[in-house]
Amino acid sequence: MDIKDAGFDSKLIHAGDFEDGLGSAVTPIYQTSTFKFESAEHGAKCFSGQSDGFIYTRLGNPTIRDLERAVAVLENGFDGISASSGMGAINTIYMTYLGAGDHIVSSDAVYGPSRAVLESIYPRFDVESTFVNTSDWKKVRDAIKPNTKLIYVETPANPTMGITDIRKVAELAHESGIPLCVDNTFCSPYLQKPLDMGADIVLHSMTKFINGHADVVAGMIVTKTEEHYKKIRPVLTNMGFNMDPSQAFLVRRGLKTLAIRIERAQKNAIKVAHFLEDHPAVDWVKYPGLASHPQHELAKKQMSGPGAMISFGLKGGFKAGEKMMNKVKLALLAVSLGGIETLIQHPASMTHSKLSKESKIKAGITDDLVRLSVGIENVEDIIHDLDQAMK
Ligand SMILES: *Cc1c(COP(=O)(O)O)cnc(C)c1O
Repeated sequence: MDIKDAGFDSKLIHAGDFEDGLGSAVTPIYQTSTFKFESAEHGAKCFSGQSDGFIYTRLGNPTIRDLERAVAVLENGFDGISASSGMGAINTIYMTYLGAGDHIVSSDAVYGPSRAVLESIYPRFDVESTFVNTSDWKKVRDAIKPNTKLIYVETPANPTMGITDIRKVAELAHESGIPLCVDNTFCSPYLQKPLDMGADIVLHSMTKFINGHADVVAGMIVTKTEEHYKKIRPVLTNMGFNMDPSQAFLVRRGLKTLAIRIERAQKNAIKVAHFLEDHPAVDWVKYPGLASHPQHELAKKQMSGPGAMISFGLKGGFKAGEKMMNKVKLALLAVSLGGIETLIQHPASMTHSKLSKESKIKAGITDDLVRLSVGIENVEDIIHDLDQAMK
C-alpha cells in the first residue's frame, strides 16, 4: 500500500519510514556530520544529483529526510525542507522570495518575530512590507503592488484568532502571479491543509503542535511543487538554517500522536471556551469553535476542527492580566503553545511587547488579551485553575 493512499492517522505513524537494511522499527538518530562515498564516481553522482545518497548533514541526513517526507505526505505536498526553528523556516521563505526593491504583503497579526524581522532587519536590504488584516481579502487585493513578490498569511492568526480565507487569497495571489505562503502552526495538517486550498508553500513551527511535547525547537517548509522546492532548499542549506538529527528524531516521535493529542486538547478547549464565555470576569472570548467568532462559518469550512488555542479579554485590562498570570497554578505561565501541557500568557507584556503601541493596536493585541494553549490535562482541573486565578 502506498502511504499516500492511507488515512491520516496511519500516515502519522508510517509516512517517511527510512529503510536502513537493519529492520529498525523507527528511523534512528544518524548522528553523523558526513557520509562516506563508495567511490569517487559515487561521490560525483551524489554532488551532481544523479544519486540521492547523503553527503553532509547540513545538506541532508536520513533522520531528517524521514521527517521531511512524513510532513510533506501529511500536508499533501511535493516535499519538505526542515529548519532549525520556525523562524529559520520563515526567514528561508523571506530570503528565497524577497530581494532589494521587492515587497511583501503579510497578515498584520502574525507571530511577533515574523513581523519584527520585516520591520527591523529586511528594510536594510531594501525589502518593503505592508501588513494588513488578511481576514478581509479586499485589503490583500488593495495592498498588492507591481513589486509584490510574496503574500504571507497566518491563520488562525497569533494571538487574535482572526481567520483568513485561504482559497480566496490564493486566487488573488495567483491572478497576480505571486506565491502564497501560509503559516499553519496553529492548526497543523490535522486540522487544516493550506496546499489543498491553493497555497504554494506551507510552513510550521514544529516546536508547537507537531512535536507537541515542549522539548524541541524546530521548523518545516512544505511546497506544493518541485519548482518551489528547488528554489527554497539551497537557500536554507547555504544559510545554515538546517535541523539537527536529534531534533528530527524527537519531532518524528512527537508527530506520531498528533491526532490523538489534538483531539483531546480540542475537546478540552471547547469546554474551556464555553466556561470563559460565561465567566463574569471575562469581557470577550475569541475561539473559532464559538458561534460568537466573527469567522465561525469560514473556520468550519477550511478547518476540520476549531483547535486548542483560545484568546480572551479580561474586564480588568492590563492589571487583571498581570494578576491572573501570577495566580495560575496548573497552567504554566509560559510562551509557546501546542504542547500537552496548558500554557497561558499575556501578549501585551510578553510575546508582543516589542511591537510599537500603534502596531499592537493595528494587530488587535489589546492590553486585556490573554492567550491560552489548552493542554490534555483533565478539563475540570484546567477550568478550576482558571476560575481560581480570575477570582
Ligand atoms: C512559535 C511560532 C513561530 C516561530 O517558531 P520557532 O520554532 O519558535 O522559531 C512561527 N509562527 C507561529 C505561528 C508560532 O507560533
